[in-house]
Amino acid sequence: MDIKLPRGTQDILPSDTAKWQVVEELIREQCRMYHYKEIRTPVFEHTELFTRGVGDTTDIVQKEMYTFQDRGNRSLTLRPEGTASVVRSFVEHKMFGYPDQPVKLYYMGPMFRYERQQAGRYRQFVQFGMEAIGSSDPAIDAEVISLAMSIYKRAGLKSLKLVINSLGDTESRIAHREALVNHFEPHIEEFCSDCQNRLQKNPLRILDCKIDRNNPLMETAPSLTDYLNEESAAYFAKVKEYLTMLNIDFEVDPNLVRGLDYYNHTAFEIMSTAEGFGAITTLAGGGRYNGLVAELGGPDSPGIGYAMSIERLLLAMEAEKIEFPDTTSLDVYLVAMGEKAKKKVTELTFELRKHKISADMDYLERKVKAQMKSADRLKAKAVIVIGEDELEKQSVMLKDLSTGTQQLVPFTSLIDEVKKLTEAK
Ligand code: ATP
Ligand code: MG
Repeated sequence: MDIKLPRGTQDILPSDTAKWQVVEELIREQCRMYHYKEIRTPVFEHTELFTRGVGDTTDIVQKEMYTFQDRGNRSLTLRPEGTASVVRSFVEHKMFGYPDQPVKLYYMGPMFRYERQQAGRYRQFVQFGMEAIGSSDPAIDAEVISLAMSIYKRAGLKSLKLVINSLGDTESRIAHREALVNHFEPHIEEFCSDCQNRLQKNPLRILDCKIDRNNPLMETAPSLTDYLNEESAAYFAKVKEYLTMLNIDFEVDPNLVRGLDYYNHTAFEIMSTAEGFGAITTLAGGGRYNGLVAELGGPDSPGIGYAMSIERLLLAMEAEKIEFPDTTSLDVYLVAMGEKAKKKVTELTFELRKHKISADMDYLERKVKAQMKSADRLKAKAVIVIGEDELEKQSVMLKDLSTGTQQLVPFTSLIDEVKKLTEAK
């Protein structure tokens, strides 16, 4: 038998899970600071949620979904992103009726997309994302962007670029859409078959095409910025004002359009400009989606959110050579000399753990020297050695591995002495 993991997935081994935990904890802490609360939704949903909520002209829906029939003949899909599920849940649980608005939520979990695997692009990846639903205050757009940036900054990233744009409101988008159709229609034969489909269904997405990106018509395409009505332009101006006030640098890119159908007003992406980060430079993307809640059966509640993958965050940290704190080190390794001592060592190991001291011992009946080597290799802060002598004295030999000093410590004061030693490190 030769079964390997499926293409586009990865095993995250203990040597790497420590890094994951560090960034996951950093993210959760940042969410607490901004007062976003965690929501957990199912990994699969009714397929229709995504065709409606993500949009059936998007790459995600057309090419990337893991859709299957269950035994009851329902069409289900492994979630390719989080927003549609969060909004479904918002509607289903009538969160629009919560006394505290906007409802500020975050999620962290695996997403699934059938994609061509490359660095930073997987078929199963972990997204962290957040949504603020129920407010159309430009200050909350700035909050969402600020939270995203703060995570990257706290992770230590320096080479960051924030790009923003406004897609405008429905009126602005209709006007722009008409201009786009007029612009591309006479030459649409030069474009890929996807773009030919997009022309009538969703011409904005032509600007997002990866195949035709070098066609000169892309450069001269009518810019959204020129079609923003007064209200949309004023909204965008306020978002920029808040960002400036918060000292968040940004660039405006009038060609930034998000791949998803339900976005309007603010759209943004965060990229890594670090050398060696690879071909894919986008770390996170998001924006405002004022029509989505109503599209999924709720009242007209405006929302904004964004998502990033943990994989790309870690890749960016690697590219910038950021050191991770060692969270897996061991406080104490216990070494037994002889059968009787082994019993005491076992008892003490479990006792230490009860006192929140991480402890480990030998389970292979190895010689003392080999046990000592384990303690070194595991980078234990201290070693406890027990032999016949120590047993007789109701004591242990406690050795500080960083200084090499050792002392005889009675069983009765062991916990205190170990705490003193390990907490000082
Ligand atoms: P891309 O242009 O890279 O395909 P996207 O527009 O499909 O990105 P979104 O749907 O906006 O991406 O998802 C938000 C974030 O999720 C991305 O910025 C990226 O960090 C992450 N992401 C998306 N797809 C993948 C994937 N296949 N593997 C790892 N991370 C991903
Ligand atoms: Mg994609």
